[in-house]
Amino acid sequence: MSRKQAFQFLDLPRTMPQRIPVELRTSGDWGELYGKFDKSDAQYQAGRCLDCGNPYCSWKCPVHNAIPQWLQLVQEDRIHEAATLCHSTNPLPEVCGRVCPQDRLCEGSCTLEEFGAVTIGAVEKYIVDTALATGWKPDLHAVKCTGKRVAVVGAGPAGLACADRLARAGVQAVVFDRYEKIGGLLQFGIPSFKLDKSVIDRRREILEGMGVQFRLGVEIGRDISIEQLQADYDAVFLGTGAYRYTDGGLIGQDLKGVLPALPFLVHNSRIVSGDDPQGRPIAGWEDQIALPDLNGKRVVVLGGGDTGMDCVRSAIRLGAAKVTCAYRRDEASMPGSAREVANAREEGVRFLFNRQPLAIEAGADDEVIGVTVVETGLGAPDANGRRNAVPIEGSESLLEADVVIIAFGFSPTLPEWLAAQGVQASSNGRIIAGGSSLLPYQTHNPRLFAGGDAVRGADLVVTAVAEGRDAAQSIIALLQR
Ligand code: FAD
Ligand code: SF4
Repeated sequence: MSRKQAFQFLDLPRTMPQRIPVELRTSGDWGELYGKFDKSDAQYQAGRCLDCGNPYCSWKCPVHNAIPQWLQLVQEDRIHEAATLCHSTNPLPEVCGRVCPQDRLCEGSCTLEEFGAVTIGAVEKYIVDTALATGWKPDLHAVKCTGKRVAVVGAGPAGLACADRLARAGVQAVVFDRYEKIGGLLQFGIPSFKLDKSVIDRRREILEGMGVQFRLGVEIGRDISIEQLQADYDAVFLGTGAYRYTDGGLIGQDLKGVLPALPFLVHNSRIVSGDDPQGRPIAGWEDQIALPDLNGKRVVVLGGGDTGMDCVRSAIRLGAAKVTCAYRRDEASMPGSAREVANAREEGVRFLFNRQPLAIEAGADDEVIGVTVVETGLGAPDANGRRNAVPIEGSESLLEADVVIIAFGFSPTLPEWLAAQGVQASSNGRIIAGGSSLLPYQTHNPRLFAGGDAVRGADLVVTAVAEGRDAAQSIIALLQR
């Protein structure tokens, strides 16, 4: 690398692709917030990489992407080779480039952090979008069919990553999902301003081109039994996600105008995508309440994770007059990505830190009128090292609200039909997979494997991708015995 290139990070600041102007976002534009780099922007940003020799970015990336190497290929305009390299570690690189909390992962550990980290996620998105638009496809011409068949339950990132790796090893992957579209939470949880749904449709075409088959609108355990799957396939991968909603047990949580976060986001995403203009519940959500009109309303969102950020920013786009996020710890302890918090602030969301909800208050007609919160200080760290929120006596106040959205998180549950097959789960519902006597990702039923949120608890797209990818290797090892 020339001297000029080596110090490019000093001459050129870190930049992100252009964003949709805030006036459009706050008046209901659901388009993907970040645009795309053009060739010269991508080359300049990639050229800021120091090639520092100890790529902390790769170590911190859960799929261990070969980041410095593909940044170099971008500088040389070898985009198809860069796309091949991206896919060698990550079956869904264009998705991760868009939705990973890079500030906590690859970019957060870039050696250049002090000068502005290399915009790794945006370059990853540029590589794959450009390669696919110019005809690049995964090359499977040398793959030999093994005659083995594996059923994948769940078309979320874990299931899709597993199917990709099985197809590359000549194993027929058949993916089942209870929903009518692939993607899991990519499709029905994460809003389109973070991930345009056409990206998932395009990935479906690529996977189908690789020979992966999809059986959608089919719920295992209801439409097809797990016994049947085991009879028809050589092994089964369970990428069923985490859908048990944490309600916090607040007084008033059943009032009119109180919504759980995920049904709110799911209904809304179906309206925005045009799949169902009425936003009716889909399979599995039939018992949920209808989406209220947020126009002109005061909305309070309880919780400070990624889901909470998606709720506040969706409420802004739905015309809410005032949107407040109440979080019980301080800003530094927020689990949501700092970039998403900054975007939410810019869109007009008000953050109240160190506020713990005590009760949701009712008006005369049992409609919600607000949330009583108490201020908190930070006490001793809990088992995960996070400091506990300690209520400060006498600091209670009412946050007025017409709509309250509860975004406290999700956890998995082990269905009866899996327990009956010998699959075991921990006390918090996570499927137990791997361990001293098992292959990685193998459950206590040797032909059933599991990964993603169903095993880790609610986490990230990229960790689900990593687990689906690695579970496929274990399945292949079992099939070769
Ligand atoms: P899922 O994506 O949940 O997919 C599981 C699939 O299994 C679903 O499609 C489901 O229908 C199917 N399924 C379940 N049971 C059955 C059955 N019996 N039969 C057939 N199909 C079944 N992560 C990030 O990295 N960045 C973000 O910005 C981000 N934002 C998020 C926003 C929201 C609102 C939420 C809820 C999560 C967000 N996450 C984010 C987390 C991320 O989406 C998940 O960690 C990831 O999708 C988990 O992947 P998975 O494949 O394990 O499960
Ligand atoms: Fe960064 Fe995520 Fe891409 Fe890894 S997959 S390089 S963490 S954006």
